[in-house]
Amino acid sequence: MLVYGIDTSNAYINGELVNTWTTPYIYDEISMFPVEKVVENLGGSVEYNNDTRILTLSLYAKTLSFSVDDKECNILDTVFYPIRNISDELGITVKWYDGLVTVSTDDTVLTDEQIAFYKNELGYSGYEDVWWRDRLTPQWFVDPYVPYTYSQMDADLHTLRKMYPDLFSEVYSIGQSEEGREILAINFGKGDTKVILCASMHAREYIATTYLMYYLDRYAYGYYTNEIKEDTYNIREILDNVTFIVVPQINPDGINLVQYGVENTKDPDAVKQIPFTSDGGEYGYRGWKSNINGVDLNANFPVLWPYPYGSPNSSSYSGAEAGSEAETRAMVDLMDNTDFEILVSFHTQGEVIYWMDGNCDRDLVDKHKPYIERICRETGFEMMPPDLDAGVGRCMTDYARYYKRAMAMTIELCPYEGNYPYPDEDFDRVAWPARNIGLMIGQIALELADPM
Ligand SMILES: [Zn+2]
Repeated sequence: MLVYGIDTSNAYINGELVNTWTTPYIYDEISMFPVEKVVENLGGSVEYNNDTRILTLSLYAKTLSFSVDDKECNILDTVFYPIRNISDELGITVKWYDGLVTVSTDDTVLTDEQIAFYKNELGYSGYEDVWWRDRLTPQWFVDPYVPYTYSQMDADLHTLRKMYPDLFSEVYSIGQSEEGREILAINFGKGDTKVILCASMHAREYIATTYLMYYLDRYAYGYYTNEIKEDTYNIREILDNVTFIVVPQINPDGINLVQYGVENTKDPDAVKQIPFTSDGGEYGYRGWKSNINGVDLNANFPVLWPYPYGSPNSSSYSGAEAGSEAETRAMVDLMDNTDFEILVSFHTQGEVIYWMDGNCDRDLVDKHKPYIERICRETGFEMMPPDLDAGVGRCMTDYARYYKRAMAMTIELCPYEGNYPYPDEDFDRVAWPARNIGLMIGQIALELADPM
């Protein structure tokens, strides 16, 4: 038996509570269900003919075929089709309990106790003809499978604001890059507890921006579709109490170089003077890590910065002095002007978390360790040991810990493959293990802000 709620993606599938990432909905009094999943979960099979665009659903000896161009069909992530159109044909029983819907191949009727149980398990609080359906397609829209550019981010941030004006602030700038791009930011959520999420300080790691934008989109959708139990996280409660300050691209000039090549930079001749290092140099400008001046921004922060090292190159120069780069200064200003609990900087690759270094007080290590362990346990990411003897410094997260005494971590997404940039078409591999990180961080920020 399958137990769904209208307007929630949480469902009980053959005895197991799961987030299906697909949400049955009612449109014009017609109940639209992800029928392929329904049939498969009941033990049936699905076939699709690419040429004829005919979908065939089979359950036991019964079969139903229809065109996906049928006007009753709505293709979102999967095919949505009126459940009543398939129930009689395939011998499926559909029963209604005030928005809770059972789909089965027998005549089971739920008791009041069972109804209460399932509503509680699904986090179900009813459904409504939600307002956004008439405005824009009721689905997430960030496309993660293409190289995610600055202009795409810009457009998507504005769409998020337009779709969810209660959840997102206006798009704003925290400063300009060396080439004069606005370093864009948006606030997400309604709470007083603040978290900074940022990505793509390193140019070739731009898929971290894709990741961040993708989950802004998903979490916002979850908030408005009563998708309130993403695994064990309550999206609505978290977004009602936390504000995420999101900077999806710290290094837009470097990303522009990686994606469009050196001829599309502001001063190609100057960039061509900067040599490649052995770290990613074999990928040419696709493997560029620094900003457009050949500075590794994560060695440029004014914290425990005794002396400069190196000279301009593609991956590992500290800059002539701490905070020499516009991108660094923008992030420092943001940290200095924000009372935040946690800062997370998303990078690639390796599926590991760096969270501590030799310059931090032992009490901060002890305080943060259980939380990092929790994130690692849930994601399967590896927790890098605190190197308490090494004097590291120079990094953005060092700055956050040392001067702001905040929890700060560098999260390396993606399995380690050593190729740059990480292939856009493999985005699912990036996204899935890390799907709840934003919610975990929000939850932990609330615990830090209000210790029991
Ligand atoms: Zn990095």
